[in-house]
Amino acid sequence: MKDILTCDKRRMEDRIFTFSKFGDAGNGGITRFSLSEAALQARSEFTKRMKTLGAEIVTDDMANMYATFKGTENLPHIVMASHLDSVRNGGNYDGVLGVLTGMEVAETIVKEKVPHRHPITVMVWTNEEGSLYPPAMMSSGIITGKFDKATMLASKNPDGKTFGEALKESGYAGDEANRLNPKDYMAMLELHIEQGPVLEAEKKDIGVVEGVVGMVNYRIRTYGQSDHAGTTPMKYRRDALLAAADALKYLHTELDKLDSELVYTTGEIVCHPCVHTVIPDLVDFSFDARHKDPEVIKQVVKVIESMPKEIDKCKVEAALQWARNTITYDTELVNLVEKNANLYGYSNMRIYSGAGHDAQFAAEMLPTTMIFVPSKDGHSHCEPEFTSVENCLKGANVLLQTVLDIDKK
Ligand SMILES: [Zn+2]
Repeated sequence: MKDILTCDKRRMEDRIFTFSKFGDAGNGGITRFSLSEAALQARSEFTKRMKTLGAEIVTDDMANMYATFKGTENLPHIVMASHLDSVRNGGNYDGVLGVLTGMEVAETIVKEKVPHRHPITVMVWTNEEGSLYPPAMMSSGIITGKFDKATMLASKNPDGKTFGEALKESGYAGDEANRLNPKDYMAMLELHIEQGPVLEAEKKDIGVVEGVVGMVNYRIRTYGQSDHAGTTPMKYRRDALLAAADALKYLHTELDKLDSELVYTTGEIVCHPCVHTVIPDLVDFSFDARHKDPEVIKQVVKVIESMPKEIDKCKVEAALQWARNTITYDTELVNLVEKNANLYGYSNMRIYSGAGHDAQFAAEMLPTTMIFVPSKDGHSHCEPEFTSVENCLKGANVLLQTVLDIDKK
């Protein structure tokens, strides 16, 4: 172990502590919406620290930040990227840890005077969470041509302010020519917390991320008849909420027969008219299903389509809202991450991400992969979100070695 270059725990700790103050929500976490006052404070701290180390910083038209340390040759960049924004009452690790470990890798390389041929860039994505201005992964979506920029600039926060206005006010909007692109960049790495319980339960230090699971997102509607809750005998009712409950039960019973890695969720429900003395006439609920194998997703679609069209005398409809295919990360990079976890003697396992990340869009443009570190009790998108500094450091070390390996290519 002595001969292998490692990152610095004290610096890592200090960085996590410092950034946790920007948007401190008071219960161990943060609320740091993209381009908010708190996010701008985090950005200037990033700028200050990267400039001190000798980085040159540019931004693109979406205010994504690129802090670059020159290489000895004129070659494409290796980029470590993640986001500094959070959800409301989010934690100190989702997103920001990918930036902080990128900064630590850069600092280790600079301080230890490690020669590198390629420029090394630490990147901050704008508005990954889409908390104030939806959708999530806005900038990577625009850069990879998934989202229309004009539509995104018109995205409004609850007060009616547009993302375009926030972008202008931030002072961080730069040149479109600076965008991440497959010509000037050779690989992108994103370190992230797992945001689930698997690594901790399996007692693994590092998740070698193979890709991001595919998913389908449906809205399911049941149509009944509103009548008086006191005067309508049960046998005359067409209760849309009862039908929705039975429809959901049907889906769970049938989907439980499929692969054990399949996950599915109803997280949103609208009940009309939502009055305690009135039988509901309309229920509209979300249905989100995810699995890495497209064949399993096809079976999910079959189950949803096989749902009876009438339940409890109510019409039932299922409409696909959107779907995303499974993303597979670059095999060579995935293998490098695994090799380097083993090099440091860190326990590791291959894993798919159940959550979306900017890296999944970037993967369509240039070789990309991710490194996961464990989330305590699997918690994420909440203030108790936690990853020990030891685990953060292990992730940073794997990231460091992977950057240096790519540099040799
Ligand atoms: Zn994230």
